[in-house]
Amino acid sequence: MSTILTGIRVNGELTLGNFLGALVPMTRLANKYSSEHQINIFVPDLHTIIADVDGNLQSNIIKSLKYYLAAGLVLNDNVHLYRQSHVPAHSELNWILNCVATTGELSRMTQFKDKSGGKDSVGCGIFTYPVLMAADILLYDAKYIPVGEDQFQHLELTRNLAIRVNHKFNQEIFTVPKKTVEQAKFMGSEEGIRIRDLQNPEKKMSKSTLAENSKIMLSDTPEKAAKKIMSATTDSLGVIKFDMINQPGISNLLQIDALVTDTPLQEVISTWAGETHYGDLKKKVAADIAAFLELFQAKLAKIDDDVILNALTRGEEYANTVASRKLLQVQQVFGLR
Ligand code: ATP
Ligand code: MG
Repeated sequence: MSTILTGIRVNGELTLGNFLGALVPMTRLANKYSSEHQINIFVPDLHTIIADVDGNLQSNIIKSLKYYLAAGLVLNDNVHLYRQSHVPAHSELNWILNCVATTGELSRMTQFKDKSGGKDSVGCGIFTYPVLMAADILLYDAKYIPVGEDQFQHLELTRNLAIRVNHKFNQEIFTVPKKTVEQAKFMGSEEGIRIRDLQNPEKKMSKSTLAENSKIMLSDTPEKAAKKIMSATTDSLGVIKFDMINQPGISNLLQIDALVTDTPLQEVISTWAGETHYGDLKKKVAADIAAFLELFQAKLAKIDDDVILNALTRGEEYANTVASRKLLQVQQVFGLR
């Protein structure tokens, strides 16, 4: 049984874009494959402390895992939830792989360049976290790691480190994850979802955008979210058409409506074909978003902390068993055992 692995960052609240673009597709993938694959969903809490430490980590961990359940994740014996820091093998393999990776290749990571740009000195975590990410993946022989395009370079690094170690010892110690093109193919149609910023629809919706009206948060009240839709930027063409290039604002509303009402996009597009009143479309999307959030928040409130804590206890037992076995194999070839 091969492993599909994904991690979810836990700093702060999620946007509708994160939810529809990442969480829902991942949940569908997990539900679809959990009878024939191991599904590892882990909380990269060691990655989270790179940014800052705000005292809310534990509650954010529980909350982020609840989002998966509210998105429809079905827990079964093949679905494993765990916290990275509760599986010490991640840190140990991280060190060993640090001795395999080079400063040259880590310096080339665009995420590192972006985050350290123009500064004389940054935390070492920002520099080395791709190596920890490689450990997260290689410990479990994961073949598929559904991530956004922004993480493809780190996946390539993971593949390179795995190949390097296998060559060094002339043994298949690590399973080399699939190439990024195959990863994208595996994710299928879910790959392309990109919710736009409500005020600047040329850009994607991002949680770090400061303008409140640009993004819908999962914690927004239904009324507040509806208002944000009503004030969304559209265009002056006066026709309701799906055309992301010339009418990104309108297209974004159609896209959002399809996703929150779970209707095929083509069906939503046909419903509005020939219509010209943007106000009518906005009212419909606003009502649908409000209904969606109300239902989602009610589902979320019903999930007990205990459900998550019990799943973590089971998941961490599984993860420690699998990861320690792999770590021992690595320690042996390196002569540490
Ligand atoms: P930040 O502004 O801090 O970069 P973000 O909203 O871009 O936050 P990330 O933490 O970078 O969120 O990404 C989390 C996941 O959500 C990733 O898988 C990413 O591809 C996905 N994602 C982010 N924004 C969108 C969006 N607007 N539409 C669809 N998916 C998105
Ligand atoms: Mg981002």
